[in-house]
Amino acid sequence: SSVYAAPNTRGAVADYRPRYGHYIGGEFVDPVKGQWFENPSPVTGKTFTEVGRGTVEDIDRAVDVAWKAFATWGKTSPTERSNVLLRIADRMEENLEKIAVAETWENGKPVRETLAADIPLAIDHFRYFAGVLRAQEGGISQLDEDTVAYHFHEPLGVVGQIIPWNFPILMAVWKLAPALAAGNCIVLKPAEQTPASILFLIDIIGDLIPPGVLNIVNGFGIEAGAPLASHKKIRKIAFTGETTTGRLIMQYASQNLIPVTLELGGKSPNVFFEDVARSRDSFYDKALEGFSFFALNNGEVCTCPSRALIQRSIYDQLLGDGIERVKAIKQGNPLDPETMIGAQASNDQLEKILSYIDIGKQGGAKLLIGGERVDLGGDLSEGYYVQPTIFEGANDMRIFQEEIFGPVLAVTSFDDFDDAIATANDTLYGLGAGVWSRDMNTAYRAGRAIEAGRVWTNTYHQYPAHAAFGGYKQSGIGRENHLKMLDHYQQTKNLLVSY
Ligand code: NAD
Repeated sequence: SSVYAAPNTRGAVADYRPRYGHYIGGEFVDPVKGQWFENPSPVTGKTFTEVGRGTVEDIDRAVDVAWKAFATWGKTSPTERSNVLLRIADRMEENLEKIAVAETWENGKPVRETLAADIPLAIDHFRYFAGVLRAQEGGISQLDEDTVAYHFHEPLGVVGQIIPWNFPILMAVWKLAPALAAGNCIVLKPAEQTPASILFLIDIIGDLIPPGVLNIVNGFGIEAGAPLASHKKIRKIAFTGETTTGRLIMQYASQNLIPVTLELGGKSPNVFFEDVARSRDSFYDKALEGFSFFALNNGEVCTCPSRALIQRSIYDQLLGDGIERVKAIKQGNPLDPETMIGAQASNDQLEKILSYIDIGKQGGAKLLIGGERVDLGGDLSEGYYVQPTIFEGANDMRIFQEEIFGPVLAVTSFDDFDDAIATANDTLYGLGAGVWSRDMNTAYRAGRAIEAGRVWTNTYHQYPAHAAFGGYKQSGIGRENHLKMLDHYQQTKNLLVSY
């Protein structure tokens, strides 16, 4: 029986269990200490399921089970593992609508996005790593007549993974797919704000993965995340979350000298050069859409284009047209496929966004549109809704420098190319950026000069599995996606043989 069956208008229903323990050794188990926490849906603000509250005891148990499973899984052939990943992808595809609805219900993001982006991207991610794994080869070097060096790929063993709440399933899959492909066993801790969509997914795909290979321990950062990241028996920790938490993760990992990958925060510039507005054609229209993308996924994206930098000569025109575009964003129940902006993922996040709107006003920025909490009435009146908001100001203001993680855009102008690059790079972060210009020479030079791991050029917000993703500066260490990722989950064994 479910506490809440989330329907959408296309008829898909996500039937959550009323209670989820941890997923260890291929089954749901109660937390050792017997504690649970409530999980509300941002759509209504009301609890829909309870989740086990993990502690060090649960992490210990999961790590031990994972090591036992590694004895077998670590020895499987690439073909076997590749087939497991392909079966997972197929099963997810068969259940696409259900999974999309489940994630929307728990996270508050529009179902049109979970249906069209989050879940299809996650499916493709499994297929991508199933494919590249088959093509991965070791290497042989003939050193001299009698000596040969062989290079083998070996899995690391049991790895820890900690993820945030903004893309509960996609962030999990970005980590799971390469780790499983490489032959590792996993203990994953989902974010406490969104544990259930992954557990919902496990109910769909769990039987395809040998017991103990993938384990999920729920709970809070300090109680469950820290014991995982500092666990003596894990061989790597992969983390996505805030920069401040990333610093702690590195400290924990340093105790055991294990490798760390960190995908952290951002304050991405979206740079519009003057030739963009030369004509009101389809290119201009695409650029306006790119301007409005700060509200995509409710602005809860690490690469959210949260700073728009517009060349002074076109500033009034592009900003005016951009604002009209943003006014057309339809806000509402995220389960309605027409909705383009839904609910923020948690009440804390809503409060944080509202406090930054205040900080913007107090700091002297000019509020151009939005700025208010939204009451959608009826069942949704306690949901976590806020208007898309645009401020005009200067790059040294707090709302230009600090990650808000909501649909709040900070806009400023620049004079010339050098000014654009200096402003774009005047940030602690370096995750994403957008560059818009009809002149590919300008676009190329800007793309190379901006210090960010991903610079979208005349596009924004695409996340294909085969493009490396990760941060410069305080946005992280290492990359995700792309076949390079397998290296992050493998050892290189060198056998140097004299014949
Ligand atoms: P967060 O750092 O608060 O939490 C992330 C995860 O870390 C959660 O699972 C949490 O329980 C856990 N955690 C918290 N404290 C911990 C501790 N002391 N030890 C171990 N684990 C701990 O981040 P969040 O608010 O959930 O997520 C939003 C952040 O994630 C934003 O800064 C965003 O930019 C970033 N993010 C980055 C990427 C990327 O790929 N670079 C992608 C998505 C989100």
